[in-house]
Amino acid sequence: MPEIRIPFFKPSIDAADVEAVTESLRSGWLTSGPNVKELERELAAYCGAGFVNAVNSCTAAMHLALRAWDIGPGDEVITTPYTFAATATVVIHTGATPVLVDVRDSDANIDPELIERAITPRTKVIIPVDFAGEPCQMDAIMDIARRHRLKVLSDAAHSVGSNYRDRPVGSIADATAFSFYATKNMTTGEGGALATNDEALSDRVRVLTLHGITRDGWNRYAAGGTWKYDIAEFGFKDNLTDLAAALGRKQLARLDHFNEQRAHVVQRYFANLRDEEHLTLPGFDEANHRAWHLFVVRVKNGQSPVHRDQVIEQLADRGIQTSVHFIPLHYFTAYEKTGRWKRGDFPVAERIFDGAISLPLFPDMTDEQVDEVCGALREILHP
Ligand SMILES: *Cc1c(COP(=O)(O)O)cnc(C)c1O
Repeated sequence: MPEIRIPFFKPSIDAADVEAVTESLRSGWLTSGPNVKELERELAAYCGAGFVNAVNSCTAAMHLALRAWDIGPGDEVITTPYTFAATATVVIHTGATPVLVDVRDSDANIDPELIERAITPRTKVIIPVDFAGEPCQMDAIMDIARRHRLKVLSDAAHSVGSNYRDRPVGSIADATAFSFYATKNMTTGEGGALATNDEALSDRVRVLTLHGITRDGWNRYAAGGTWKYDIAEFGFKDNLTDLAAALGRKQLARLDHFNEQRAHVVQRYFANLRDEEHLTLPGFDEANHRAWHLFVVRVKNGQSPVHRDQVIEQLADRGIQTSVHFIPLHYFTAYEKTGRWKRGDFPVAERIFDGAISLPLFPDMTDEQVDEVCGALREILHP
C-alpha cells in the first residue's frame, strides 16, 4: 500500500479539547453528569430546539425516538436506501417495517412525491436523511406528515449546523438526531443527540436512555440524592459519558468555524472541478445555508474512459484516500435476505451509487491538498 498522502478525514482536536477532557477526568465525574447537562443546554440553544437529549450515538437517538413514539410491529416507517444502515436498522429493531423510497437525483435526498405514494394506513413515521449536509425538502415533508398524522424523525447525522431556509436543522422536524461519531462535523468520539420541541418525548427518551429509571444517575448520586429509584419501563443503556460531553461542548463551540473551513474546501473543489466533463458535482439549494459533511462527485461511468472503481483505485495508488457514500441498503445481505427489495427497485439511488466518490474533506484540509486531489482526478479521468 502506498503511504497515505491525503487522508479522507482527519478530526480537529486542539489543546482546549484535550484540556476539557482531562479536566473532566480529574473531576471524578466520569459518567453522565454536569458536562452532559451543559452540552444538552448549549446544543438546544444552538439548534433552536426546546429540548436536547445527549446519548451515545445517532443510532441510539433514532432508536429511542421510535421507541418513545411506541413504534413497533405492524407499523411502517418511510426512509430511503441511500443512507447509512443505522437509519433503517433501528426501525427493524423496533419490530416495525422500513419502507424504502427512492431519492432525488440532484442531491440524493428523499423525494417527497415518493413519500406520499408510499403512505399506507400503517405508516407512522418518515425519516428523511440530510445527505452530505444538504437539508431535505422539509416544508413539503412536514406538510405531508401533518396531513397524514405522521411523525418526522430527521436523520441529521450529516447536517449539524445546517439551516433549512433560515431555520436551523434541529428546530423543524418532530425530532432530529445528530451524530458525534469520529468523522462527523463535530465529534465526541462516539456520541449523538436527539433534539425536539416536544417535552414529553424528551422526558420519555430520558427514561428509556438509562434502563427505564425514572430518576437519573446524576440525581441519584448528587448531594441530596437518595438510593431510591424506580424502573418505570424496560429501557436501554444509551447515555453519553461526561468525558465525551466535555469534548462535545468544546467541539460545539467551534462547529461554525469547522463548517466554514469545510465550506472553503468545498468552494475550492467546485472552482477546480467545474469544467471536468467526466464528473457530476453535487447539487445544492442556494436558499439553504448548509454544512458540508461530504463532497461527493459522480463519475459519468458511461462516457468517462475510466470507471468509478478504477478512479478510486488510482487515487489510492497516489496516496489519496476516498470513500463511497452510500452502498444502497438493499445491496446488503441482511436487507436482501428479507426478500422485500431487489436490485433495480431504486434506479436513482443505484445510479448515484454507481458513480459516487466521496473526496477528502476535513476542516484543516489545505488549498494545496485540494489542488492535489483535483489534479490527480483530472489526470486519471483523461488517461
Ligand atoms: C453516521 C451516520 C449515522 C449513525 O451515527 P452514529 O452516531 O455512528 O450512530 C446515521 N445516519 C447517517 C446518515 C450517518 O452518516
